[in-house]
Amino acid sequence: MEKKEQLYEGKAKKVFATDDPALVIVSYKDDATAFNGLKKGTIAGKGVINNRMSNLLMRRLEEAGVPTHFVQELSDRDTLVKKVSIVPLEVIVRNVAAGSFSKRYGVEEGVVFDAPTVEFSYKNDDLGDPLLNTSHALALKLATAEELEQIKAMALRVDELLKAAFHRMGIELVDFKLEFGRTPDGTLVLADEISPDTCRLWDEKTHEKLDKDRFRRDLGGVEDAYQEVMRRLTEDLA
Ligand code: ADP
Ligand code: UDP
Repeated sequence: MEKKEQLYEGKAKKVFATDDPALVIVSYKDDATAFNGLKKGTIAGKGVINNRMSNLLMRRLEEAGVPTHFVQELSDRDTLVKKVSIVPLEVIVRNVAAGSFSKRYGVEEGVVFDAPTVEFSYKNDDLGDPLLNTSHALALKLATAEELEQIKAMALRVDELLKAAFHRMGIELVDFKLEFGRTPDGTLVLADEISPDTCRLWDEKTHEKLDKDRFRRDLGGVEDAYQEVMRRLTEDLA
């Protein structure tokens, strides 16, 4: 399957058309942004790692019964996926307080929740991805009530599966962001990516951060952290 015209260039990936109108190719870049694009940089080799890691994790989720957009890895950076209409929500699941949750509610980073939380942000860069609740999402017609229920259930199932997978790798899954899309027949599938760009991952023993917070917070060792997660995932599969 070959890349045709570029449909979209985002902050971390490009999307290309293919000969098949139902399929697109996503191409992972090394570009990194944070704080709604205010901070820009590159993380050498990130695109290759995120492509590989996202595909491995999505394949596992599929095997466990979670429908995803994944079709086939084409190269180091390119993957064939089902073209979906993205539901404009960032679906965030949290197991441990961190980031915007800690800031907004005045809770120290690292406080472990009794049960995971699910929250939605309106995926809209111009507005800075504002937090919203279910009735806001309905008022804005971003999804139906049934879809929101389904998205929440799928997000919690993904959390269970990913938490277990990362635990085997000695990694605590602190929080992560998911995106869902509709296929032409209206089926909801997990889309976008699952990577250290979109998850907070802490070493279980040392609590060292192994994710994009190293870039956001100028902690150094960004490339090494991404490589370390990939190394552990590869080892887990061997
Ligand atoms: P952003 O748009 O936030 O800068 P990216 O650089 O990751 O993000 O760009 C990838 C874009 O492709 C995102 O807007 C994402 O919603 C979209 N996308 C992800 N998976 C699919 C898919 N299967 N079909 C269509 N669009 C997708
Ligand atoms: N996240 C993401 N894209 C976004 C916002 C958040 O992938 O546009 C991820 C982020 O990496 C973290 C989780 O979602 O794993 C929760 O992020 P949070 O709300 O704490 O926001 P942040 O601290 O990134 O501002």
